[in-house]
Amino acid sequence: MITPVLDIRDLGISFGGLKAVDQVSFQAQRHKITTVIGPNGAGKSTLFNLISGALKPHRGQVMIDGVDMTGAAPERTKAAGLSRSFQITSLFPELTVAENIRLAAQVLETARRAFLPISRSARAMSKTSQMLERFQLTHRRDELAGNLSHGDQRRLEIAVCLASEPKILLLDEPTQGMSHGDTADTAKLVRSLTEDVTVLLIEHDIGLVMDLSDYVVVMHQGRKLAEGHPDVVRADPAVQAAYFGH
Ligand code: ADP
Ligand code: MG
Repeated sequence: MITPVLDIRDLGISFGGLKAVDQVSFQAQRHKITTVIGPNGAGKSTLFNLISGALKPHRGQVMIDGVDMTGAAPERTKAAGLSRSFQITSLFPELTVAENIRLAAQVLETARRAFLPISRSARAMSKTSQMLERFQLTHRRDELAGNLSHGDQRRLEIAVCLASEPKILLLDEPTQGMSHGDTADTAKLVRSLTEDVTVLLIEHDIGLVMDLSDYVVVMHQGRKLAEGHPDVVRADPAVQAAYFGH
């Protein structure tokens, strides 16, 4: 059997009496897009916090590439190949576009240098050029990140995540607040990411979810309501009732 790159087993956490994430299990397959959907407050961001190590689960397991990373701190899940974007951008607005990417690439190198004495700045520079090109930000490279449009900031954030060469990318509502055009561009970009990484996505735009996802996990009140191929999930009566409201 192939080891799934991400294996979530019976994961749970409560805040006071509220079961924010309750007995959630699913697997993410390598180089696919798995999307978590569900109404506001369903537990999606909390699930990401449990996976990335920002929160420790009260029960269950998080396996990354067959290794038990349950409750591991964010630095350790990052070292294990996990990178996440936040619902709110986490860029350094006072650094330029290129500097934001270079910083991420340099952090990766500092970690590697213990094993591989390679020319550090040359590598970071070439990585940065590649990323700028790929994310269509080359013409903005010397602009301060804080001056970019909202859409460009969200894309830069994904570039920053990718610069650390993760295995798994967690994207929390990357198209939030974007125009239609920017949303479509970002969807294309996210699809192209599967060449390099496994994508776990939280997304609100249902049309986008159905087009983009290889697999969908539906959450409702902390629980997993349904999972499967987008078409199967959409046709599920429980999902129709709870999520689409008819
Ligand atoms: P979603 O991302 O699906 O909108 P969240 O995971 O942010 O939902 O939140 C799930 C539930 O857990 C909500 O009711 C929210 O108010 C609650 N919650 C999230 N984080 C905390 C926290 N740190 N302390 C207390 N309650 C929280
Ligand atoms: Mg959320």
